[in-house]
Amino acid sequence: MSFLPFALPDICEDEINEVLDSLRSGWLTTGPKTKRFEEDFAAFIGNNSEAIAVNSATAGLHLALEAVGITAGDEVITTPYTFTATAEVIRYLGADPVLVDIDAATFNIDPSKIEAAITSRTKAIVPVHFAGLSCDMQAIFSIARKHNLKVVEDAAHALPTTCNGKLIGALESDAAVFSFYATKTITTGEGGMVVTHSPELAKRCRIMRLHGISRDAFDRYTSIKPAWHYEVVAPGFKYNMTDIAASLGIHQLKKAKAFQQKRSQMAATYDSAFYGLPLTLPPHAPDNDTHAWHLYVIRLHDKAGISRDSFIGAMAEKGIGCSVHFIPLHLHPYWRDLYGLKPEDFPNAQSGFEQAVSLPLYTKMSEEDQQRVIQAVKEILAC
Ligand SMILES: *Cc1c(COP(=O)(O)O)cnc(C)c1O
Repeated sequence: MSFLPFALPDICEDEINEVLDSLRSGWLTTGPKTKRFEEDFAAFIGNNSEAIAVNSATAGLHLALEAVGITAGDEVITTPYTFTATAEVIRYLGADPVLVDIDAATFNIDPSKIEAAITSRTKAIVPVHFAGLSCDMQAIFSIARKHNLKVVEDAAHALPTTCNGKLIGALESDAAVFSFYATKTITTGEGGMVVTHSPELAKRCRIMRLHGISRDAFDRYTSIKPAWHYEVVAPGFKYNMTDIAASLGIHQLKKAKAFQQKRSQMAATYDSAFYGLPLTLPPHAPDNDTHAWHLYVIRLHDKAGISRDSFIGAMAEKGIGCSVHFIPLHLHPYWRDLYGLKPEDFPNAQSGFEQAVSLPLYTKMSEEDQQRVIQAVKEILAC
C-alpha cells in the first residue's frame, strides 16, 4: 500500500491555469495579482481590514513587530508551544521573547500566567492560535489594554478561525499574520499576509517589505511619476510576494471555507472513531465559533502502553506519516541556552509535547485514507 504523507497541498486546475497566466503575462514579481489577492483577503476578513502580502508569515511577523515599534532591549510575551519563527523574529529586532506556559487543555498561551511575566520592558504579546483554535483573546486584550501592550497575533494556523463570532484578523489586535506555507490551511507555496486595521501600520509594512522604498513596484510602474523614480526611507527588507504565488492564493482563498468544512468533518470522524481509546481528543472551539483544524493533535495517555515516539514509528510501519507539533522552544539548544530555560518552567508545554501526535488531516485525503489512519491507530493502541 502506498505511503500516506502527513500533509499535502490541495491544488487544482484553477491555480495551475492562474500561474500559467502569470507566467505568460510577464508579471512575475509583485504586481496586479498580488494586489488582487490582498483585496480579496481584506474583503474575506472584513471589518475594514488592510492586507499586506509577503513571502512568508515569518516575514510578516517581523514586519508587524517592527511596525509596532519593537526594538532592542524590549520584551515580547509569547508561548513556548510554537514554531521557532514566532520567537526568532523578536530576536531579529534585538528584543527578547518571554515565554509563558500554555493551558494544558488547549495548547494555547494561558492568559492567567501572562501578568506575572510583564516587566517594565514588556512591549507586546504574540499569541499563537495553536492548530487553528483561537486563544482567549478577550483575556489577552484586557491585559494588553491594562498594561499598554501591543498585540500581534501569530495566525499561521488560523484561517478561518473565529473568536466570539469574529474572524481572526478582524479583532482589535494591532496585526494578525497568516501563513500560506505548503502545509497550511491555504497555500501559495511560500507566503504570508499581514492584516491590520491601522493605516499607519499598513503603510510601514508596505514600505519595509520592499527595501524601505516609499512606493511598491506596482505603483512605481503605473503611477504618473516617472517610472524610474523611487525613494528609500529606511533600511527595509525583501519580503514582497510574487504574482506567481498570489496566483495560487487567489484561488485557494475562494476555497478556504469549503476546505475548513471538510477538515472539520474529518476531525469529527476521528473524534467518534477514537472515543474510548487511551488518548485525549483535541479541544474544540466553543459553540458558534470556528476551529480552522489546521492540525489534529491527539495526546497519548500513559496507559496506552506505548511511547509517543514508538507510536509514530508504528504508524510509519503501517505507511502513515505523523508529526509532532511542536518541539517546544525551551527544548531547542538556542532558546534553552540563551535564556537558561528548563522543562519544569513550562510543565504544560512539556507534558503536552511528550504526549502529542499530529495525525494526517488534509482535504486531499479520501475517506479510505482516513479509515486507514483510524484502523492503524486502533490496532496500535489495542496491543
Ligand atoms: C508555519 C508557522 C509559522 C511560519 O510560517 P511561514 O509562512 O513558513 O514563515 C509561524 N508560526 C507558526 C505557529 C507556524 O506554524
